[in-house]
Amino acid sequence: MQSNSGDVAAGPLTVLVADDDLSMRRIVAHWLSKAGYAVEQAADGEQALERIRSRCPDFLLTDWEMPRLDGLELCHRVRQLELPHYVYVVFLSVKSRLDETVAGLEGGADDFLRKPVDRSELLARMRAGARVLSLERRLSRMAQTDPLTGLITRRAFYEALAKEWERARRLGLPLSCVMMDIDFFKRINDVHGHQAGDTVLKAVARRLVEISRACDLVCRHGGEEFCIMLPETGEQGAEQWAERARQQIAELAVPIGDMALRITGSFGTAQRHEDTQTPEQLVDQADQALLCAKRSGRDRVVRFESLAESSDLELADGEQPGSLFQGVLARHVMTPAVACLRDDDTVGQAAEFFLRSRINSTPVVDAQGHLSGIVSEKDLMAALVSLKYWSRPIREVMKPHVICYEGDTPIRTIYEFLCRVSIRRVIIVDQGQPIGTIARSTLLRWFRNTVIANGLLDSAPQISGDLETDPHRSKERLAETARAMAEQIAELEGRLREDAEDLVPHVVGGATRMQELLDDLLAYSRYANTTGGAEAVLRSLLLNTSPSD
Ligand code: GH3
Ligand code: MG
Ligand code: MG
Ligand code: MG
Repeated sequence: MQSNSGDVAAGPLTVLVADDDLSMRRIVAHWLSKAGYAVEQAADGEQALERIRSRCPDFLLTDWEMPRLDGLELCHRVRQLELPHYVYVVFLSVKSRLDETVAGLEGGADDFLRKPVDRSELLARMRAGARVLSLERRLSRMAQTDPLTGLITRRAFYEALAKEWERARRLGLPLSCVMMDIDFFKRINDVHGHQAGDTVLKAVARRLVEISRACDLVCRHGGEEFCIMLPETGEQGAEQWAERARQQIAELAVPIGDMALRITGSFGTAQRHEDTQTPEQLVDQADQALLCAKRSGRDRVVRFESLAESSDLELADGEQPGSLFQGVLARHVMTPAVACLRDDDTVGQAAEFFLRSRINSTPVVDAQGHLSGIVSEKDLMAALVSLKYWSRPIREVMKPHVICYEGDTPIRTIYEFLCRVSIRRVIIVDQGQPIGTIARSTLLRWFRNTVIANGLLDSAPQISGDLETDPHRSKERLAETARAMAEQIAELEGRLREDAEDLVPHVVGGATRMQELLDDLLAYSRYANTTGGAEAVLRSLLLNTSPSD
């Protein structure tokens, strides 16, 4: 008798025998038990399905004709279930016609045995099935494990995280994620070689596992990046874990040849909150915090929460923002959100919106008017690859994670945030509804205008260059633009007269240039009646009527 504990799983292989014929069921169960299998029985298809759902067996041996749910339908249903592992299905049936055998196999069965069943043939076919199961499980284990570090892969991690997420939600337990990235890892590869890099990766992976609890899960998220799930851990606990990990990594001395290599890592942490929508969003928040850890000097831990908290951060050189910030709130400075896109608007509509309004990014709201993301020209670039993207809803291309501040947030807080992170703009909300945006350029403009309005500078510094939209010279600009348009028209007329071979590129090119000039005309026209000099211009600028970002 062969051992059936083999490769597949610890303990004997499990078999569920489904047959409405009691004596048949008993005989088969008896043979299998004697051969070392753990056997359960079901008297019809429904009962079998229930068993499989609650305790998934390695094998299902099923009769064809059974009351309630027949074998073929049972097989169909089993293949539709999301089970923890593959079930090897064998039909035991009096059906003997070729088309019936084919139907069984097509229906998802792996093997077909005719009744009356011969004992030795059954056991031989079971052994063949066990070989298939063993291979299948080895493959699936390989797909879940990173061969270099032995950690689980990103895919397996997200599966586990989704389960833990559900548990945390149901039981109201905290759940945190930490994202970690080795600092200047490329240098290690460059200086000491790829193999040294691999050694470092293994050492870091080992250390991260060593300092984790049994229920924590460490995965290799990509290259030299690790993601750690910390169940039943809040933000503070996650930060403590990350801080400990940071110190431990910094203390590692990885032996490479006859030297000991020192490394550091940067960490970002995030905790699940009621408004964190998906496990992916949680990981993304930890990743944003990691980004801040990188940007602010590496070898440190940054909490995602701290990105949105008002902070009394010292500026890098000890400089504090001056009194100009005193008492100024976000809603005083923001560019009002005139119109938002809806998440079910199409990419094509968004492109049209950007072109017409001459802005390059806008908040996106859901059907209830609540903020659901932000979309920028850059997000639309993917749609230029193929026309099929043009009619997709923008929720597929927008960034769902937006940093929001309430309208009465002190502007200094937002200034400090935009100084620290790579994110270019934040959305200003009132009870979840976007009311405006503040980009770095909004702050620059506000600062420039405030300085001038307070008499700290006489007037806006003059710049030379074609892109200038200096309102002092707007009439001149209008005239220049009109002239340029006339030139475009003349050129196009010329082409048409020549009757050139392929006119389309000329017409499209000319029309595009004219469209841009037309937009310029409209932009300059805002200042066309401004005659009161700098002061009036400034007033209008401070009311945010300048060309948008
Ligand atoms: P930073 O501090 O900004 O993270 O700098 P960095 O050099 O670590 O960042 P970067 O992401 O540019 O470099 C990651 C490098 O990791 C690039 C890639 O060649 C290397 N890498 C990715 N996977 C492996 C691997 O399996 N083995 C080795 N040796 N190197 C890897
Ligand atoms: Mg029957
Ligand atoms: Mg790195
Ligand atoms: Mg990296």
